[in-house]
Amino acid sequence: MRRDTISVHGDWTFDPYTGSLEPPIHVSATYRFGEKPFTPRGRMLKYSREDNPTVHYLERHVALLEGGEDAVAFSSGMAAIASTILGFAGRGARILMPREVYGVTRILAERLAPRLGASLKLAGPPWDEFLEEASRAALVIVETITNPLLHVPPLDEVSKVVSEGGGVLVVDNTFATPVLLRPLELGADIVVHSATKYLSGHNDVVAGVAAGPSDRMEVLWEWRKMLGSQLGPFEAYLALRGLKTLHLRVRRHCENARAVAEYLEDHPRVSRVYYPGLPSHPDHSTARRLLAGGYGGVVSFEVRGGGEEALRVMSRVRLIRPAPSLGTPSTLIIHPASSSHRDLPLAERLRLGITDGLLRVAVGLEDPEDIVEDLSKALAG
Ligand code: PLP
Repeated sequence: MRRDTISVHGDWTFDPYTGSLEPPIHVSATYRFGEKPFTPRGRMLKYSREDNPTVHYLERHVALLEGGEDAVAFSSGMAAIASTILGFAGRGARILMPREVYGVTRILAERLAPRLGASLKLAGPPWDEFLEEASRAALVIVETITNPLLHVPPLDEVSKVVSEGGGVLVVDNTFATPVLLRPLELGADIVVHSATKYLSGHNDVVAGVAAGPSDRMEVLWEWRKMLGSQLGPFEAYLALRGLKTLHLRVRRHCENARAVAEYLEDHPRVSRVYYPGLPSHPDHSTARRLLAGGYGGVVSFEVRGGGEEALRVMSRVRLIRPAPSLGTPSTLIIHPASSSHRDLPLAERLRLGITDGLLRVAVGLEDPEDIVEDLSKALAG
């Protein structure tokens, strides 16, 4: 099956018991002992914290989309990431992440590493600094597109260096999705997602998922079982429903984001635009090499006049909503310096390039002309 067909169907055909074309939501917490026709991962169903049929349909769907042997779904993206750290960073392990990694992932690793007897190293971008460190790390966690400056790491080079060094490479594919990039095909060991974002796509569910080879998924499944971070069946159903249109939505998010980025690049009140699809982005050539069919749905830009001006623009948008998250049908805007990156020490935030005047727009699925018009009115002052 081609990628768009997988997005629609996943591994699902119909329910053999009822003929239902849509997957049922299995609510039972427990299952009767004895012979069962349905045995996820060859295990008998017994307790929903361990395995649930609706969750398993989602896992099969994501495994196919990402090109992994198996997948494990979690109650959130953070639960998936926590399990990868617990499962693959033991005593003496060095964990490597870029400085611009998702803030909660970084804080989690900072707090877990000393308890596990491991250490955390932050390096890059620039990516040559990151590559230099990658050969010495036991666990490398990197995102396909970073937030909020939308850097694109050279994943093909990273995976080569990590595998030569004997480490495990975990790629957070939340921003690119398997529609634009499949990290496992480039040699990543595990791919993780905040399925809250594009995979589910409707801003109505919090979920996470990891995909990869069966032996690695077994490790994550064990941690999920012990931590009790299984996804609920209703959430799994909503995520499954979202996946059916993933390919259409991601392309539209990308087209709209490009229109917004091109508009902003010519705007006199905007001093800089960050979008990997623009030749002005430092990682544009890597993005062209690795991403297929689009450059993502997020655009960041710096407003002339600093923090005050940026907050003023944010207060003036009408269609665009001031709210966190991305991959939602509605366009959302945040001011990273006072929200997502508020807890970073000032010097470090500025060193990363996250200035007071920076705004991040998670472009939605509206008509692009309406999004541009809203920004145009807000910037007009
Ligand atoms: N990874 C990335 C790149 C994210 O942006 C987020 C959340 O914003 C997460 C992981 C965490 O996912 P969740 O909020 O589903 O726990």
